[in-house]
Amino acid sequence: MPDVFADLVGQDDAVDTLRRAAASAAAVLRAAHLPPPTATGGPEYDALDDLADADADADADADADADATDAVSGVVGGTAAPDAPAVDPAAGMTHAWIFTGPPGSGRSVAARAFAAALQCAHGTGCGSCPGCHTTLTGTHADVRLVAPEGLSIGVGEMRALVLRAASTPSGGRWQVVIIEDADRLTEAAGNALLKAVEEPPPRTVFLLCAPSTHPEDVSVTIRSRCRVVPLRQPSAAAVAEVLVRRDGIAPDVAQWAAAAAQGHVGRARRLARDPEARQRRDAVLAVPRRLTGVGTALDAASALIEAAEAEAAASVAESDAAERAALQTALGAGGTGRGAAGATRGSAGQLKDLEKRQKSRATRAQRDALDRALVDLAGFYRDALTSAWRAPVAPVHTDTAPLAEAGGQKWAPEGSLRRLEAVLECRAAIEANVKPRIAVEAMMLSLWRG
Ligand SMILES: [Zn+2]
Repeated sequence: MPDVFADLVGQDDAVDTLRRAAASAAAVLRAAHLPPPTATGGPEYDALDDLADADADADADADADADATDAVSGVVGGTAAPDAPAVDPAAGMTHAWIFTGPPGSGRSVAARAFAAALQCAHGTGCGSCPGCHTTLTGTHADVRLVAPEGLSIGVGEMRALVLRAASTPSGGRWQVVIIEDADRLTEAAGNALLKAVEEPPPRTVFLLCAPSTHPEDVSVTIRSRCRVVPLRQPSAAAVAEVLVRRDGIAPDVAQWAAAAAQGHVGRARRLARDPEARQRRDAVLAVPRRLTGVGTALDAASALIEAAEAEAAASVAESDAAERAALQTALGAGGTGRGAAGATRGSAGQLKDLEKRQKSRATRAQRDALDRALVDLAGFYRDALTSAWRAPVAPVHTDTAPLAEAGGQKWAPEGSLRRLEAVLECRAAIEANVKPRIAVEAMMLSLWRG
């Protein structure tokens, strides 16, 4: 059975850090269960207090962790179980972590794996004990996951979470809170989280995921309380390897998909497996040769927007219907008893709430789909640019490489670069809330004009 870190593709440094931290966390728990210190040995301090003190210098000491851990091995925790390595509890563990990296690099995979290692009966993330298993399947009582369905995480959700996170872990280990897309916290939600991170309950661990530690993604004050685990964009070879090993995809398909997905593991898997995802990508990559005038540019913009809408609608349709059915069952829809009329009146509000949440999720799904298309398009112009320069790098899209090469010759490096910039500006404009149709139309016109 592979351990919980097996799916973190091409992230050896991060996995090292997390393994050390999990070992320290296990040592903290062991130390807490030891008898009080005596003159003859045993820990000379309260391990949990030390853990809190260590937070402040966690970042400065990050590099020194390995040495520190080695130096104190065998001194602290001498009475621990014989099969458990002696580790300084303060060396590698802290209460708050931020996982950063580009989309698809595995931020939330890393956070979940670490959560599993913290709940692991062996303290290692073995992958097979109940603690590991329930964490990875999302059913562990002491692991809570917040994933924004809409464009932001609100203060109400965050307050409720912080409150529950303060309770004693029912499994006797840690309360773990994973916040996916922490860059989508509203300001008020960020403040609620900050309070908890500043005065952490003794057994609570916060795991935040964000694209970067830029102040636009994570507030400076929260960042200063967290240890950062940077993930990098995994190489195409590493992504292909995991597609073959874990998903049983044929090696040639895996290599093509890994390159086309530009280091995004989930996208690579979809491209390898889902013919519709491949068709959508083909349509996007056909855009450059279709741009022959203003009319075709505007048509191409409409097509791109509509494709993103269709993809998003397909991706949320199933969960929307399931949620609606579940809510109606919970509200006793179709009842004919005396209370039914009153219940129906009250349930209208709840249905409205649900519709609002679903609409917000659909908007997010559309933006994500559009962004994926823009990343594909940017890859095409990047290929045109590198071929015009005769740069010795592999193309992003091997299947459209000849087309990109022809474009690169026609446009010269300057023209390719202007087009690449037009795509990137469009992404930035949408992120800054410009209406997607306007941003995409402007981009298509720039791509046509060059
Ligand atoms: Zn385990």
